[in-house]
Parts: sequence; structure tokens; C-alpha cells
Amino acid sequence: FHTRCFIKNKYRELIIGESKMEQTFIMIKPDGVQRGLIGEIISRFEKKGFSLKGLKLIRVERPFAEKHYADLSAKPFFSGLVDYIISGPVVAMIWEGKNVVTTGRKIIGATNPAQSEPGTIRGDFAIDIGRNVIHGSDSVESARKEIALWFPEGPVAWQSCAHSWIYD
Ligand code: ADP
Repeated sequence: FHTRCFIKNKYRELIIGESKMEQTFIMIKPDGVQRGLIGEIISRFEKKGFSLKGLKLIRVERPFAEKHYADLSAKPFFSGLVDYIISGPVVAMIWEGKNVVTTGRKIIGATNPAQSEPGTIRGDFAIDIGRNVIHGSDSVESARKEIALWFPEGPVAWQSCAHSWIYD
């Protein structure tokens, strides 16, 4: 069984090369961790069929959070946002799959939970924009930057044996 899986995985890499396989950076924010939503959130990405390629519980310091949100440094909510992100541990993850950046943002829902549809993570579990439970990269380019920042060691190399049951 393991040999067959290995051979299929070698073949799969060729298939992945043709389709829009992507990686995205997903972070469960301190409120999501404190509220016991880690399992629920991971479960939604896992059940969709995406592959977990990196995972850590980490408490970051101010300069690191400022770097992650550097593009928002001119916003009036910037220092409050950084206070929020460093207020407790976060769960940093790399998820991989076809169109995972865009689909991941759909699973997460609109930035302001008041506008997030029910069925999305923010729509189901959040009320205020300043406590919106989760972060997801907004483009392939920001995903690349964020993964490099949070996972300098890179993703974990593995392929799920369920691949051919998820992709046609
Ligand atoms: P997203 O996280 O959906 O990509 P943004 O990049 O615009 O959204 O903002 C980053 C984070 O900053 C949001 O997820 C939210 O936590 C916080 N934020 C955005 N706008 C506001 C605001 N008006 N007041 C407080 N916090 C905000």
C-alpha cells in the first residue's frame, strides 16, 4: 500500500504542475485560539480537501506583527491591530490546494463580520471587525511573503493519498 501511494505521489507532482496548485498563509488569531475554535477552523480547510503543509502555535512580538501587517501601517487601526495580534498565541498554518488563496478567503468570509455570510468562518463565529478570528493571504504574492515570514524553514513536504479522490 505504501509503495503504491508513493508511486502515485510521484506521478501526482506532474499533475499538480499543470493545475493552479497554490499555497496560502492562514492564521487563527488570538481570539480564535482563546475561544476554542482551532479544531473547527482546521476542520473546515481539511474537509474541503486542502492539505496542511505547515502548522505552529506561536506567540509573536510587536516588531514581527508590525512586519506581517506592514502594508496597513498608515491605517488608524494599525496599533490596535498589532496589540490584538500579540495579545496571545496564534496558530500559523500553510494550506495547499487548487486556488486555495481565493477559496480560502471565501471560506473565511468578508473582513467585517457584519458583512460576512453565514457559513463562512467570520460569518459564523465573529461580530466585530477588530476580533475577526482569522487571517488569510489576499493574493498569491502576499501568501509567498507571509509564508516566508512565518515559516522560514519552509513547508513540510508530503502529499495526501486522497489526492485522486479530490482532484479529477
Ligand atoms: P483581511 O484580514 O480580511 O485581509 P485587511 O487586510 O483589510 O483585511 O485588514 C487586516 C485586519 O485588520 C482585519 O482582518 C482586521 O482584523 C483588522 N481591521 C481591518 N479594518 C479594521 C477596522 N476598521 N478597525 C479595526 N480593525 C480592522
